[in-house]
Order: sequence, then structure tokens, then C-alpha cells
Amino acid sequence: MKRFEYQGKELFARVGMKVPASRLVRIMESDGGDSPGGREGALQRVESAVRELAQKSGGEAVSRVVVKAQLDMGGRGKAGLIQVVGPEQGGKEGLAAAAVEAARAILSKGYTVPALLIEEAVAFSQELYLSISVEPTESRYVVLTSAEGGVDIETLAAERPEAIKRVYIDPFRGLQPYQSRGLAYDIGLEGSLAKEFARLLTQLYTLFTQYDAELVEINPVFVTEGSSSTAPTLLAGDAKVIIDDNSLHRHPDFQTVREQYDSDAAYEAALEGIPYLQFDGDISLMCAGAGLATTVFDLVNYEGGRVANYLEFGGPNYNKAQRAMELCLKNTSSVILIVTFGTIARADVMAEGVVSAIQNLKPDRPIVTCIRGTNEEQADKTLRAAGLEPLYNTEEAVARAVALAAAAAAAAAGSAAAGSAATGSTQEASS
Ligand code: GDP
Ligand code: MN
Repeated sequence: MKRFEYQGKELFARVGMKVPASRLVRIMESDGGDSPGGREGALQRVESAVRELAQKSGGEAVSRVVVKAQLDMGGRGKAGLIQVVGPEQGGKEGLAAAAVEAARAILSKGYTVPALLIEEAVAFSQELYLSISVEPTESRYVVLTSAEGGVDIETLAAERPEAIKRVYIDPFRGLQPYQSRGLAYDIGLEGSLAKEFARLLTQLYTLFTQYDAELVEINPVFVTEGSSSTAPTLLAGDAKVIIDDNSLHRHPDFQTVREQYDSDAAYEAALEGIPYLQFDGDISLMCAGAGLATTVFDLVNYEGGRVANYLEFGGPNYNKAQRAMELCLKNTSSVILIVTFGTIARADVMAEGVVSAIQNLKPDRPIVTCIRGTNEEQADKTLRAAGLEPLYNTEEAVARAVALAAAAAAAAAGSAAAGSAATGSTQEASS
């Protein structure tokens, strides 16, 4: 389960890490409903949040804030979803108004943004990178760090791999103090900053193990500018935390809530324990097994089609055909493609499930089936008795689904054209 930046920073604070002062402004309630007052209400809350932040820091006036869209997406900075506002946007008097304008701009970019994080902006001299993740091939954890943070780590890894330093952690021995200090010196930190870095990494490791994370990443870690009276220090500028889904039963405070998902279908699938990914094409996949489902996904693209949703209906879910089909039908797809290879998950059980789902749900779009494996002969009879034409070759099934989707798209375009031709004169009159 991915946590939003603000949730990641809450965890950082719990283990004693320093994060910038902030206020959260909800755009959507966590159950997916609208927040009070709609967008204008939210913008008013942005304004009060900035005023509160300015007051909170007491003596030192806050002259800059950063408005950050909270959504599950990397590269928000580049997409214009992170905006720093300061005196140049309207002076100290106008800081709240400038933040409201930034928030308005972020919200009109067409992304679904459940919340905005309003933070006191940090003045920094350098951006570092720091992460801990699981390295399965080593059976260990890996810490990656770099003096050149703030940029996409994949790009840095491709262009300047030597700029990334790493150490492996034995999960039974844990992070050793010499490892944290060594990394600090490796990325050029000295004195109090090196000590602080070692402490930061230790805290991050505590978080990583305590919350069963598969990734914790801070990009950037700011090295603050400091002043004549304050020494430079380290501050987490961003937070990416992914919790291992298999451990969620140990963490009741990480609830499966609507705002964490891209669509109602994705959310319902998560509640049901059905692996599901939301896309925006027109072919719904209902496949068994991650490997086969991924292959079918690739084949659809190879054949020139586009996937509406990826759904795995296999393993422990092989008798959930009805629920799986309901989730597919929540998409505006024009065909459902069912590809399975059942071993323990029997083909005849899946075929029966598919047929009864069709009888109960009366889908409004064609269904292509390629159901193979244990008791395949029985599956074939069941499907044929229900009027389906079972296929047995994955490529053929994919090609059939792609052709059906293309035909549906052409028909829709044709009827739209016919419709506009028929109403052409009235449209002209009204435009
Ligand atoms: P991401 O693009 O989704 O990873 O979002 P980040 O939270 O990492 O922000 C992207 C970039 O915005 C950072 O690398 C900074 O350059 C800039 N940024 C974020 N917060 C601040 C801030 O408090 N002060 C300043 N000056 N820049 C910031
Ligand atoms: Mn970042």
C-alpha cells in the first residue's frame, strides 16, 4: 500500500525525523466524497492554512510556502503539481492569496487530487537522495543515497551511476552505525551534518522495519541554508512510503480507503483482495495468474489495443468470476477478455463462474474466453452450452478482442458522425 506524502511524513515524525511545518487541506474526503464547499471551500481552507502557518512559527515570519498536490504519482514537480510561492508572487501581505492562486492552478491541471499539503518552504543549499528498499536477489535490504538528489533516481542511475552510493543491510543484524557514517562521508557530508545524516538513516531504518515497508524514500533531503545563528541541518522534503500489503493485518491504522485508489473499481477490488490496476483503454482483462495477465497485457498493446483494466481472477479468487466481471463492467470498456490457465484453480469451475456471471449480470459487451487447464473439456461444454465460442490460443483470443474493440470504436465514431450530420443544422444555428 502506497502512502501519500503527507502520510509518509506523519510516519517520519513518529520516529523522530524532522519535517517542515505543514497543514493538510482536503479536496476530497477520504471515503471519496466531496469535501465541504467544493473547490471554493477548499481554496478558502488553503488561505487559512497559510495564515495559520505564518502565525505558528512565531518570531520568524514565514515568507514562502509550497503547495503540494497529494496523489499517487512521481514527478509532481515537473508536472506543475508542486508550487513554491513567495514575496515575488505578491509580497508578504499577499502570500495567502498567492498560495490560493497556486492551488487553483494545481487543481485545474486535470488530475484527481484528494488533498493539498501546504508547507512552510525550505531554503536549501543542496538536495540529497536517501532510500531503503528490499533487494530480493541479495536477500538483504539496500540503502541508496546520493549527493545529487531532487532529480529522478532512475535517470541518475542511468546517466551517472557512480553518483549513487549503496550499502546492503543484513535484516538479522540490522543497520550498523559504521554503515550510516560511511555513507554520510561517501556523499561528502562532514561534521554535524554527517552525524545528522547517520541519525536520519537510523530513524528511517526503524520506520522501514517497524512498519513492514518495502520502500521508504526521501527525495529530496534538504540541506538547509542555515544563517549566522543557525547551522545547516537536514530536513525531509518529500516522503514516499510503500507498505508490504502482506503485513497490513499488523497495521490496523493503514486502512484501505477510497482516496488511495484511482477508481471505484480499483478500491472495491482492493477490499475484495483481487489484484487490479486501472488503465483507460477499452479492453477489460480478466486473467488468471500474474505472469499470464501481464503477458496478455503486453499482447493487447502489441496488437494495437488498449487495456481498460488489469484484473487477476485466479489463485484464491478463481471462484470470484461474478465479482471480477462486475468490476470489469464498471469500466467503459467495449469487450471483456478472459484468459486463464487453471491447474489447482480448475478450468471447469472458472467456466461455470463465467457463465453464471453472464446470466446474472447480462453484460452489455462481448466476452472473449480462452479458458484452459484442469477439466478443460468440461469447461468447453459449459461455455458452448451458454452460447459462447471458447478459444484456446492466447494470441488468437487477444487478436479477437482487439478487433472487437476496434469495431466498437469505429461504430461509435460512425454513429457520432451520423448523429452530428442529422442534427447539423440545429448545431449550426445554436453555435
Ligand atoms: P516530486 O516531484 O513528486 O518528487 O515532488 P517533491 O516533493 O520531491 O518536490 C519536487 C521539487 O520541488 C523538489 O526537488 C524541490 O526542488 C522543490 N521543492 C519542494 N519543496 C520545496 C521547498 O520547501 N522549498 C523549495 N525552495 N523548493 C521545494
Ligand atoms: Mn520527490
